[in-house]
Amino acid sequence: MKAAYYEAPHELAVREAPEPEPGPEDVLIRVAACGICGTDQHIYEGDFGGPLPLIGGHELVGEIVAVGAAMLERKPGERVAVNPNVFCGSCFYCQRGQVNHCLRWSAIGVTRDGGFADYVVAPETNVYSIGELDFETAAFIEPLSCVVYGLKRMRIPIGANALIYGAGPIGLLMLQLVAHDGAGTVAVVDMKQEKLDLASRLGASHSVLAGSSADDTLREISPLGFDVVIDCTGVPAVVEHMFTHARNEGKLLFFGVNPSEARVAVSPYDVYRKDLEIYGSFALRFTFHDAIALVESSAVDVKPLLSDRFPIERFPEALALAGSGEAFKVQIQPD
Ligand SMILES: [Zn+2]
Ligand SMILES: [Zn+2]
Repeated sequence: MKAAYYEAPHELAVREAPEPEPGPEDVLIRVAACGICGTDQHIYEGDFGGPLPLIGGHELVGEIVAVGAAMLERKPGERVAVNPNVFCGSCFYCQRGQVNHCLRWSAIGVTRDGGFADYVVAPETNVYSIGELDFETAAFIEPLSCVVYGLKRMRIPIGANALIYGAGPIGLLMLQLVAHDGAGTVAVVDMKQEKLDLASRLGASHSVLAGSSADDTLREISPLGFDVVIDCTGVPAVVEHMFTHARNEGKLLFFGVNPSEARVAVSPYDVYRKDLEIYGSFALRFTFHDAIALVESSAVDVKPLLSDRFPIERFPEALALAGSGEAFKVQIQPD
């Protein structure tokens, strides 16, 4: 089969690879579509995931072509989405249901071979039926599951005014779910007018161009700040700035992935004086069915977020485009 490898940091190769063999509790999937996300850039840089060489790709969907001997639910021919997060089930955190904190956590396309290939193997427990949902749409289920998890943790107060930094694919999924989740208004900040235009189409009440006048604009929109402030950029300076616009008793969600060594300055006095609540959100936890329901019902519209499709052979070009900030979601679609 064809596969795109991270060979070493900053080194990619598309080459022939042996077709993976499913174990007794695995399925073999022919990949139909696999989204590229910020995590893939981190693996490329060498600051997350591995060991290398590794086939990346964790936002993957496809069709089951073979199943292991101990299969209980899934059948060949079934169209499926894959939760890439593999947990052991027996460590301290797994036994408390905190499976995304599994002490033996691994992930398809991050620490073991993933979906930038013709075929991929996944444990049956990680595979979800998508019915007749088209594959391009279904490849958004994984990132949407992460957004669902973050919002389940934070819980939007009904009628809240919300502020989201970042209008990339994640910010635009976040925007739609925040609006759907009972927020009264949602303001979105981004550096690109094109992204803000799409945010407006997808339900943003206010679209604010990042820059020197953004703070004044946000204070005009809501002089006392926002009940909910969410970072979908992963930029430390933006995260630090979230506190400026949090209203008293505000909730802050750190959703974007920052560099692991990044530090920001926070006023503990402000957190105390303003009764602030700060939430982290790592990956997802049993939120796949929720995400499937949200796309099946079109409560969340993912179609406008897909901007580019590439075959496996052009993976290096696709990764560069996805990392440039010039595209929305880029997918690899093996043929
Ligand atoms: Zn991702
Ligand atoms: Zn575990």
